[in-house]
Amino acid sequence: MANIILLGPPGAGKGTQAKRLVDARGMVQLSTGDMLREAKTSGTEMGRRVAEVMERGQLVTDDIVIGLIDEKLAQGSKGGFIFDGFPRTLKQADALADLLARRGLALDAVIELVVDDAALVGRIVRRAEDARLAGEPVRRDDTPEVFEVRLREYYKNTAPLIGYYWAKRDLVQLDGMAEMQAVADAIARVLDKA
Ligand code: AMP
Repeated sequence: MANIILLGPPGAGKGTQAKRLVDARGMVQLSTGDMLREAKTSGTEMGRRVAEVMERGQLVTDDIVIGLIDEKLAQGSKGGFIFDGFPRTLKQADALADLLARRGLALDAVIELVVDDAALVGRIVRRAEDARLAGEPVRRDDTPEVFEVRLREYYKNTAPLIGYYWAKRDLVQLDGMAEMQAVADAIARVLDKA
């Protein structure tokens, strides 16, 4: 059992790789983006406010996402947790360390999917097109305009976590531009060593 963070900008492939780990290893994917999209449909005032922030591509308040993660951690996981899209700020990273410590859990690796920014907007536009063709809901923040904001938020708030985890010796950097299967294999090697 291992608990890992998948780190990387929007469109790096975190969600895709997390889903593969769920299938292959029985891990539990904790995607704050998915949780927030669910909260959005709850019809509450909080859900409405969260939806507005997400549609602009900005980050939701730390306390909201920390609370969501806390609830999910309480449910436990035999195969380990994959943190996907969380933490996104230094405050969230500190909170995660506290939440894990309180439950006697360890963080086994922080895997950064290193990608080429120029390729990302293309991936996002393709994701929206694939969803549309499949008749699935298209994310309202998967447009080139909102993507630009999301990428800036990433560099301003989330990229500092690369240094934070590097200093803690938890960081593993993988080539996120490789084929999907090659990335999955590289992640598997990290997990097998953890
Ligand atoms: P994602 O599905 O991870 O791309 O997240 C979609 C959107 O949800 C982001 O652009 C943010 O508005 C919000 N969000 C997701 N995770 C977090 C987080 N850890 N902290 C703040 N906002 C988040």
